[in-house]
Amino acid sequence: MTPVKNRRSLQKKLLSWYRRNRRDLPWRRTGDPYRIMVSEIMLQQTQVATVIPYYLRFIKTFPTPSSLARSPLQNVLKLWEGLGYYTRARNLHRAAQAIHEQWNDQVPSTVEGLSSLPGIGRYTAGAVASIAFDVKAPVLDGNVRRVFCRIFAIRKDPRQAAVQDRLWGLAADLLPDRNVGDFNQALMELGAAVCLPRTPFCSLCPVRKSCRAYQLGLQDRLPLRIERRTVPHNKIAVALIQNGRGLLMGPRPEGGLLAGLWSFPEMDGSKATTHRRIEQEIEKRFGLEPNLLRPLEPVTHTFSHKRITYHPYLFNCVSASKRLPEPWRWIPAAKIADYPLPNATRKIFDQIAVDVQLAKRATPLPLAAERATVYRKRPK
Ligand code: SF4
Repeated sequence: MTPVKNRRSLQKKLLSWYRRNRRDLPWRRTGDPYRIMVSEIMLQQTQVATVIPYYLRFIKTFPTPSSLARSPLQNVLKLWEGLGYYTRARNLHRAAQAIHEQWNDQVPSTVEGLSSLPGIGRYTAGAVASIAFDVKAPVLDGNVRRVFCRIFAIRKDPRQAAVQDRLWGLAADLLPDRNVGDFNQALMELGAAVCLPRTPFCSLCPVRKSCRAYQLGLQDRLPLRIERRTVPHNKIAVALIQNGRGLLMGPRPEGGLLAGLWSFPEMDGSKATTHRRIEQEIEKRFGLEPNLLRPLEPVTHTFSHKRITYHPYLFNCVSASKRLPEPWRWIPAAKIADYPLPNATRKIFDQIAVDVQLAKRATPLPLAAERATVYRKRPK
C-alpha cells in the first residue's frame, strides 16, 4: 500500500486540534488500563452520554479486575441493566476472571495479550493498547471509517472486505511514533464532533485542506450509503402470572437472546394470538391453571438484528403447582427490581407495579383480582 503522502501534517493538525477540543470524559481522567478497557467495552455501539453514568457506577462497584472477577455474574448484569448488548457484560466478567487468574491482575499491555481476552476484538485491543500503553496500534470504528472514506475519497462500500483492509492499512500507516492513544482518540473525536454522518462541519475541520472529499464536494455523499436490509419484526406473547407468592419468572437460557437476564414466560406471539392459547401453553409448560385478568400495553424493542413487539397479559393463578420446572421461581413483586431485567421486561413490569403500588410493599404480591377487571372466567 502506498504510504500516505501528507502523514506528518495530518498527525500534527489532528493532535493539536484534539488537545484544544477534547471532551472531558471520566475515562480520559485516568491512565488505569482496566478502567480504559471497561470504558471501551461500554462504548461499543453505545453513545458517550449513555455510557457515562453506567461507567461511573460500574467503576465504583468494581474498581479492579479482581473485584469484578469475584462478583457473581447476576450482580454484573444488574449493573449493566439498560445498557443493552449484554454479551459485553458477560465477556467483560470473563475477561476480568482471566486477568485475575492468568495475568496477575494486570491488564495485558500488548494487542496479542488483549485479543486473547473474551470479547476483545481488533478495535478494542488497539484502542486499549494505544490509549493505556501508547502501543503503536491502529483503531477503526464507525467514526474513523467515515473520516477516512472522506479524507481519502473512498468511493466503495466500506463494508467490503477489501475496503476494510485498505482502511485498516491507512489507520496503521497514519500513526505517529508517540502519543498514539491521543492520535487515535483525535480521529474518533473528529468523527464524533465535526465529521458527522449527515452534515460534516467542514469549516471547523483541522484537516479540510487535506480532505479529498471536501475538495471534490463529495463530503455529503461519502461514505457510500448502502441501503439497510429491513430487519424482521417478531411478535412475542408474555404471560405475567401472579399468585400469593409473587410473579412467575426465570433466567433466560445460556447462549440465547439476553442470556442470564430474568423474564416472564414468553411464547411465540404469532401462534399464541388468543389468551386461551396462552393459557393452554402455561398449563402445558408449568402445570398451572391461570385466569386472564387483563391484557397490558404492548412494548416494542429494537435489537441490532430484529424488532420484537411484546404482547403482555396479566393472569391470576390460584392453583399453583407444587413444583415448578427448573429454573422457574415465584418472585415476590417487591424483589423483582433486584434481578437483572431486559428493558422490555422492565417496561412491562412497570405497568403493573404502579397499578398495585408494589413499590411500597415488602410482602409478596397480593392477588389483584379485586382491583382488576376479570376478563374471562375459566370454564370448569
Ligand atoms: S473536511 Fe469535512 S468531510 Fe473532510 S474530514 Fe473534515 S469534516 Fe470530514
